[in-house]
Parts: sequence; C-alpha cells; structure tokens
Amino acid sequence: MAVVLGIIAASVPVLLFNAWLRGQGEDETAVTAAWALGYADTQIGEAVTAINDLSTNGIDSCRPAQVEAMRRAVLRSGPFKELLLIGQNGQVACTDSGLQVRQQVIASVAATDRDILLELVRIGEGSERLLRVRKVGQADKPSIAAVIPTALLLPQVSLRGGRLDGAVRLTMPDGAVVSEAGKVNSEQEQRHVRLRSQPYGLTVTVSLPVGGLIADQDALRRIAMLVTGVTAIVILLFALRRARQPASGTAELAKAILSDQFVPYYQPVVDIQTGKLLGAEVLVRWKRADGSFIEPAAFAALIESSGLSLDLTRSLMRRVRDDIGAAIGKRPRVSVAFNVAPQHFDDAMIINDVGTIFDNSQIKLTQIVLELTERHRIDNLTAMRKTIAALQGMGCKVAIDDAGTGHSGLSYILKLGVDIIKIDKVFVHALGSEGHSKATIETLIDLAKNMRMEIVAEGVEDFDQVTYLRERGVAAAQGYVFAPPLPAGSFLQLLDAMEPVAEMVPAPAKPQRASSFR
Ligand code: C2E
Ligand code: CA
Ligand code: CA
Repeated sequence: MAVVLGIIAASVPVLLFNAWLRGQGEDETAVTAAWALGYADTQIGEAVTAINDLSTNGIDSCRPAQVEAMRRAVLRSGPFKELLLIGQNGQVACTDSGLQVRQQVIASVAATDRDILLELVRIGEGSERLLRVRKVGQADKPSIAAVIPTALLLPQVSLRGGRLDGAVRLTMPDGAVVSEAGKVNSEQEQRHVRLRSQPYGLTVTVSLPVGGLIADQDALRRIAMLVTGVTAIVILLFALRRARQPASGTAELAKAILSDQFVPYYQPVVDIQTGKLLGAEVLVRWKRADGSFIEPAAFAALIESSGLSLDLTRSLMRRVRDDIGAAIGKRPRVSVAFNVAPQHFDDAMIINDVGTIFDNSQIKLTQIVLELTERHRIDNLTAMRKTIAALQGMGCKVAIDDAGTGHSGLSYILKLGVDIIKIDKVFVHALGSEGHSKATIETLIDLAKNMRMEIVAEGVEDFDQVTYLRERGVAAAQGYVFAPPLPAGSFLQLLDAMEPVAEMVPAPAKPQRASSFR
C-alpha cells in the first residue's frame, strides 16, 4: 500500500513540474528566478545551521575558547566569512577573527517561524554591504550572527553555466538592494519574474531578454527531468523504507529512541602495562518505563530488522556528547568507542553523522573510535575502505570488532586499513583451556604488530588472562576484571579518580590523532 501511495505521490511533482513548465511557456526567466531564490535560501540556510549549532553548544560569550570555536566554524567554511557576537546594545561584542569594524544596520527582516533576523549592514564608513544572519535568543545574552558577503548570495553564471544573460536582484522587504548579478540589456525587451523567499522574506527579481529566452530548450528540459526524477526517487525510497518496517515492535522502539530510553553505559578500557585509563566503549542499555534494564542481546535483532539502528547510534552519540563531553574534552588522550552497524557505513552516512554530532563538541574527532564488527559480511569492500579512510582523515579511528569470529579471515582486516583490532571475548575466555584460542590471539597480536595497529582484548575476567596478554605485549584490555559497563555517573567518578585533570598531558598545538587503546 505504502509503495502504491509512494508511486502516486512521486508522480505528483513530476506532473506538477511539467504542467508548470508548459504553463510558463518554458519560461527561462521563471526557472532562473526559482533557481536564484533557492541559491540565496541555501546560502542563508547554511549560516542559520552554523549559528544554531554554535548556539546549541552554548557559544554566548567572548571567552577565548568560545571565540576559537567560532573561528573553527568559519574555517570549516560555509558562505559566511565571519561569526560574531552582538551585545544587547546592538554593537558587535567580538568576532572570530578578533577584528572589529563598526556595522550599521540599513534594513532588517525577521524570518518566518524562526528566531532568525536578517540584517543588511554597512561596514564602517564605506559603501560595502554585508548580510548579517542573526539568532535572536535570550534578551540577557549576546546574540550570535554570521556575516555573508552579498555577492555570495546570488549565482554569478546562468543556469546553463554560461554568462548570465540578464539581471538578478535580491532585495529586502523595504526594497533595499542586498545583491545584484548580471545586467539588463536595455536594447532588448525584458521579461521580469519576482519571487519571495518563504523562510527568509527576501525577494528575487529576474529580468531576462524576451528574444533570448531558452536558447537551449533541451538543456532546460534535461534539468527539469533531473529535478523531477530525483524528487520521485527520494519519495519512492522513503515509501519503500516505510513499507519494509514491521509496525508494532518498530513503533515501540522508535518511541523508546525518541523518549531517550536507550542509555549509554561505559566500559573502561585500561592500559595493562601502565594501569592508565585509555577510554571507554559505549554499550547500550534499554531503560524501560518500569525502570528495568534490558541488555542489547534482547533487542539487537529487532533493532536491526526495524532499520532503526542508525537512529539509535545517532541518539547514543548525542547522549554521550552531552553526558560526558566536558570530562572527555579535558582529557585529550582519552577516547570513546561506539559500536556502529555496518549499514551505517553505506553511502558514507557515518561520516556525516559523526561530523554533525561532534564537530563543535568538546569531544574531539581524534578521541572517537568507531567499532565495526567482523561478524557481518561486507559486500562492497572498496566503498567501505574509502569511508574508513575518510573517517581517519577527519581524525577518528576505526576498530575491527569481534576479530577472529568472522568468516572473512585476516586478509579482510588488512584490506580495510583499520587502526585497531579488538580480540573477541570468546578467545580470551578459552585461553586457559584451548590451544586453538591461543593460536588465534597470537596471530592477531602478530598481525597488529606487523601492521602497526593497536590491539584491545575484550572480556578479560581474571588476572591469569591479564598476565598472559601483558606478556605478549598487548597494551589495552577491557573486562569485568577491571570494571563492567558503568552508568555515566560512575564512569565519570572513575575517570576523575584514575585520570585526574591536573595530571593531564597538555593538548598538542596541532591537531593530532589521539593515541587511544595502544
Ligand atoms: P561487543 O561489542 O563485543 O561488546 C562487548 C560485550 O561484552 C558487552 O556486552 C559487554 O558488556 C560484555 N563484556 C564486557 N566485559 C566482559 C567480561 O569480562 N566478560 C563477559 N562475559 N562479557 C563482558 P553487551 O553490553 O551485552 O553488548 C553485546 C553486544 O551488543 C556488543 O558486543 C555489541 O556488538 C552490541 N552493542 C552494544 N551496544 C551497542 C550499540 O550501541 N550499537 C550497536 N550497533 N551494537 C551495540
Ligand atoms: Ca564492541
Ligand atoms: Ca565482542
């Protein structure tokens, strides 16, 4: 049913778009106006996202660390060139660059349904204008704003990539010109189209010569087909995804995720050569409304079949960031490991999620480890390898989890280029009794040494196991012999006791990958 509805829903934009195109007499002016407005909205939207993120992360003062966070957001780019805080008196309190030039507001408009104000400002005494995108939050706090050079708000070339054969103008509601691109050829009759941006209240006016319209109708038609095709595919995929999900258990899980019933527990990872705390592995627990706790084995299959594992991981990552971010941020050498479902690596979704959730957080990307289990087969090894390399490029580490239990063998681990091997607990438990386990562990240790990978033994329960692992040069281990998975409060106490901040090694000046789990 959902698929049929999806097909119907997907065909609607196609039909509407085609009807609209015909109705407009395939009017390039209207298409250009829609395109230019989308361009401006996107540029402003990026600034809005950035200032919302900074505001969520509590950036509301000119303290050096906060100014640095703004600076990093600018360097990560976006169309905005500067971030600043504006005091209650309307004056600039500080900027990410430390430079302060007087900004005079010429015109402003409040975005609909948001606490966002767009202000056209003049810089100093000159004629240069900028668009200031400002979040008006609490009255007693400075507001954060992003400044976009007005030229970046409009496309400078035509839809077909050539010279803009007319003029595009972006204006405030009172008519003040924000930005202009191209110019009107006064010798030709012009067709004008005006569109107003729904979210931001700005107006785009496009003037194109009537005679010169749609020099290349095929190109326009191709763009139309592409736009409608992509829309149709997105709607269909959405419908198919919904259709695959069974109703009842899934709905309960989705509700549980939304109401934060899945809580992170933290199992310490210890350096068995020095006794230092290296970090923690995040292990999920389901805290039901009746107060009972359920371990992953009881709901893992349902999470996987319901397609909610990505949502669960995202929700856990946010919760970890909020619960222990400050303490982890103060200890740059301590890392946090997440178990990530293999499908989260599809289409590089994990890259986007980790970036979005941790970019402005106290937990640095260099402190994050992503554990990928060897139990599941990976179909597209090349894509997986690329995603892993991209994560490593961002500073994260990737661990192969449950090593030795999969069917793919060691060559597979090598092909993935991961940083850490985690020996599964079945081999550690069998150490005293079974020669086969020793052989597997020793092979994994040799492999890690040869490939300069870190190694972590999991499920370590007694001191004989610790001694055995230590003698073979394994540095990191986790297991009940040290601590079970702990709730955030207990883990933070342990962290304070084992790694007091006063003993902290100063953070390196340049970004550097954390030496987690060595
Ligand atoms: P895993 O990644 O192999 O995690 C280690 C498991 O061993 C955890 O079980 C942990 O509680 C348990 N463990 C730790 N020390 C000892 C020990 O000394 N002895 C014994 N017998 N067990 C020990 P848990 O928490 O029940 O998690 C089971 C599995 O569920 C995990 O295995 C992992 O594959 C999965 N899982 C847990 N949390 C998440 C999550 O947030 N996302 C995903 N995708 N999977 C998760
Ligand atoms: Ca794990
Ligand atoms: Ca395991």
